[in-house]
Amino acid sequence: MLDTVDFYREILDNLYDGIFFVDKEGCITYWNKGATSLTGYSSADVQGRNYCDIFQPLDKHGNNLCENNICPIRRVFDIATLTEIEAYICHKEGHLLPISIRIAPVREVSEQYVVAVEIHSSNSPRYAMRQRLEELQELAMHDLLTGIANRRFVEINLAARLEEFKRYGFDFSVMFIDADHFKTINDTHGHTVGDRILKMISATIANSLRSFDIIGRWGGEEFVVLLVNTKKDDLFKLTDRLRRLVESSALTLDNGETLKVTVSVGATAAQKGDSVGSLIERADKLMFESKRRGRNMVSVEFKED
Ligand code: GH3
Ligand code: MG
Ligand code: MG
Repeated sequence: MLDTVDFYREILDNLYDGIFFVDKEGCITYWNKGATSLTGYSSADVQGRNYCDIFQPLDKHGNNLCENNICPIRRVFDIATLTEIEAYICHKEGHLLPISIRIAPVREVSEQYVVAVEIHSSNSPRYAMRQRLEELQELAMHDLLTGIANRRFVEINLAARLEEFKRYGFDFSVMFIDADHFKTINDTHGHTVGDRILKMISATIANSLRSFDIIGRWGGEEFVVLLVNTKKDDLFKLTDRLRRLVESSALTLDNGETLKVTVSVGATAAQKGDSVGSLIERADKLMFESKRRGRNMVSVEFKED
């Protein structure tokens, strides 16, 4: 059986880019696989050696960071706080490698203080590309105003749930939610207040869904919710609960005035032969049915195949 130390080291070896530990004398006591692939040095190359001698870390102007006792890793022993720096270190093959370094003081199992150092290649095209992709993904899937998912994300998930439904019979339902008389709110209080009301509606609904349900902004003052594994009796209850929660929420303006809003909702379960388009269209029609009946209503259709 692995002992505790081996267990954590195995995690560090497999989960992180580059991690190493340095003791008070500046000697490397642990070196993971990520550090090897980043720097070219194996664990055997570096164990027990002083890391300043191996890497000769430089700042971005080319100054040696370990000269004159200003070594950033040693400093962490003195100030005992997490430090982050950008530096160049020397790869085993000789070239300089731009990296981001995070240095944290930690107490080892033996109760000795060591310093844990995490290194990432910072300027490599791969790293830059990964960061850019993450940013793009955030932008591409989020609604900037409300912070919930956007229409694209909902459409992708709807298609995936439909595929699951057709293959495995996992049922799911869709809710279409439209704010009532929203134009009047904008016309009376201005667009900025309208935006705050949209945030209030989305937060109220998002906070009362289960973690695996999805809410997205479909457009303007319209929202779509995807509910998995919801039975016929639950769908009405859940839909009406959300309607009531929105009705009970209230935005207090700077002048003390309190604004309220209601929503009309349509909800339906996925049926055989549905496409993303047909499912949304049915939920949208049901939402209009709620408008027709006077607004602040829910209309639910649940056909069992
Ligand atoms: P109904 O009860 O029939 O749904 O009436 P409504 O006024 O909500 O419907 P309508 O579709 O006429 O108006 C929707 C309004 O939502 C019009 C538009 O200016 C406003 N709107 C759309 N997107 C935004 C937004 O991002 N921010 C704000 N503040 N208003 C928005
Ligand atoms: Mg609308
Ligand atoms: Mg509306």
